[in-house]
Amino acid sequence: EGADAAPMLTDGFHLVIDALKLNGINTIYGVPGIPITDLGRMAQAEGMRVLSFRHEQHAGNAAAIAGYLTKKPGICLTVSAPGFLNGLTALANATTNCFPMILISGSSEREIVDLQQGDYEEMDQLAIAKPLCKAAFRVLHAEDIGIGVARAIRAAVSGRPGGVYLDLPAKLFGQVLEAEAGEKSLVKVIDPAPAQIPAPDAVTRALDLLKGAKRPLIVLGKGAAYAQADADIRALVETSGIPYLPMSMAKGLLPDDHPLSAGAARSLVLKEADVVLLMGARLNWLLSHGKGKTWGAPGSKKFIQVDIEPREMDSNVEIAAPLVGDIGSVTKALLDGIGSDWTPPPAEWTSAIREKVDANIAKMAPKLVGNSVPMNFHTALGALKAIIKARPDAMLVNEGANTLDFARSIIDMYEPRKRLDVGTWGIMGIGMGAAVAAAVETGKPVLAVEGDSAFGFSGMEVETICRYNLPVCVVVFNNNGIYRGTDVNPTGGADVAPTVFVKDSRYDKMMEAFGGVGVYATNPDELTRAVNEAMDSGRPTLINAVIDERAGTESGRIGNLNPQSVVKKK
Ligand code: ADP
Ligand code: MG
Repeated sequence: EGADAAPMLTDGFHLVIDALKLNGINTIYGVPGIPITDLGRMAQAEGMRVLSFRHEQHAGNAAAIAGYLTKKPGICLTVSAPGFLNGLTALANATTNCFPMILISGSSEREIVDLQQGDYEEMDQLAIAKPLCKAAFRVLHAEDIGIGVARAIRAAVSGRPGGVYLDLPAKLFGQVLEAEAGEKSLVKVIDPAPAQIPAPDAVTRALDLLKGAKRPLIVLGKGAAYAQADADIRALVETSGIPYLPMSMAKGLLPDDHPLSAGAARSLVLKEADVVLLMGARLNWLLSHGKGKTWGAPGSKKFIQVDIEPREMDSNVEIAAPLVGDIGSVTKALLDGIGSDWTPPPAEWTSAIREKVDANIAKMAPKLVGNSVPMNFHTALGALKAIIKARPDAMLVNEGANTLDFARSIIDMYEPRKRLDVGTWGIMGIGMGAAVAAAVETGKPVLAVEGDSAFGFSGMEVETICRYNLPVCVVVFNNNGIYRGTDVNPTGGADVAPTVFVKDSRYDKMMEAFGGVGVYATNPDELTRAVNEAMDSGRPTLINAVIDERAGTESGRIGNLNPQSVVKKK
């Protein structure tokens, strides 16, 4: 090298890409635009997978699901202000669900934003993101990109996982550094999610409580699914002989037809259990806050809670045995402590559960068959249940109101982390984002079971699915509206009721518009044939499944959450 040879240069664009790649992050979900269009192009040129969406919220939901499936933060890349805000919904949702994700957003110039002088897409994004995510950082100098990305990764995956915001102002990307100095500034995060070993006396306290139980129950939540400690969790259930109840995204952690599954006896076990071991499941609204009539007589339960987040303990009710640590380490410690002198729970308890499970399954079975037109939720889901049973490694995405509630209880899951759904908030709109990430991250065929209303929130992403030729089969349960298609305008005016859509909409034509396969299915046989064809071919497919517009109840199974008016309905 001569004394006056120009040094090799790098810049902010390349340092962001190099920092992500150094940390094993190779996929970006986003929407291009000022100031991050070139960042996406260059990332693709550098060998990263860059998937562009039609709306940032779905790119964000995809990133969150990527985080859930891989334990590495999923990356969502957005433009400033409106793009950032669209992505922020997904970031807040990821944080609520404890999924690791990083929202990287370009932003306007600090000098102008801070003086509020009216920049292009001006917004103080860092301040807005902060209360809605686990951590938020801004990088102003190219030499800090390495440490900024490292902080974002560690914040997302360590402890309780969550969403992290990383603010990158436009000016940063063009900042120049000597290549060697740039490379030295990068940080490879060592042990980003360190094991958190439970204290031995906390383990003993929990085991003592379990040993004294007459009617013990294990509740598995999506934190347990996330932990990827599948074999040990199964061993814990089977060695202890304790019946378990899976929360919706923990379905398949053990197969739903496992003899110790209490899935079909949910009401019975929640009411009657005396000691409940919560593993990666919070006592939030989905579990009636651990109290009330769902949980039987007041004071009839003792809770053991396994969670990585210490402050989760006693959030709703007293936790008799808090077990703070990561699920993998805690499960190992419990297995060690159980030893060979363990007595399984009384047969009275386990056989009462078995009886209830068998009775409920037998009661449901006849509703799931029949080839009548139009279909109802049960006959359509009976068909899909058989398909998932025959293809247990397929990914299942599920959202809607009735479509969600019925599918959750009807479609059995057989393998861990195959079911992706509306999560802790019970939101609409995760469907196509989750479907894209499921296909991209696992390479498996994806079946997305969508209410017609739920599908509408992310429906434009069928173009994304076609563009990347992803093996996604969307089934839209079309009952002409939200909850039902039968509501009428009580005034007799021209507008339809607020819950009703265009009757007999042809969602299948949307998929055809982008080169995918569209199918109009009116009975379970047609539905079965079309789904199997889609799953075999791997071609993007949308099946419009015609469901009786009278089928469905207000808000599905959570109608009780609707406030009631004292004024009589007109
Ligand atoms: P569900 O909705 O399935 O009941 P939640 O989302 O309410 O599950 O609860 C998941 C819990 O799991 C959260 O409290 C979170 O802190 C915890 N968690 C996430 N990852 C881990 C882990 N690796 N080890 C222990 N707990 C975890
Ligand atoms: Mg509907």
